[in-house]
Amino acid sequence: MPVYEYEHVFDECEIAGTTFAVVQGIGEAPLEFCPGCGLEVRRVVSQVSVQVRRSTDPEKAAARGFTTWKRSEQGVWEKLAGSGVDVILDPDKAP
Ligand SMILES: [Zn+2]
Repeated sequence: MPVYEYEHVFDECEIAGTTFAVVQGIGEAPLEFCPGCGLEVRRVVSQVSVQVRRSTDPEKAAARGFTTWKRSEQGVWEKLAGSGVDVILDPDKAP
C-alpha cells in the first residue's frame, strides 16, 4: 500500500510533528484530521499523487523529514520510519 504524506494546516503537534505520512489503500479517503492530535491536516501533493504506481518508501520519506505511521488496528497507529513517537493511540477508537 502506498504512503501518503500529510501536513498540519495551522499548527504542528508534539506527536506527529508538522508533517507526517501514513500507509493507506489507494481507495481510502484522505485523512482530514491528525490521528495524534485531532487537528486539521491536508495531504501533501507529492509523486505519490502524480505517479500512482509508485509508492513512497517509508525510509525515503524519513530522509525527507516525514515520519510514517501505519494503522495496525482500529485507533492504533504504529511507526514504520522516521522520528517521533512509536505508537499513536486514538483515545476515541482504541480498544
Ligand atoms: Zn497532530
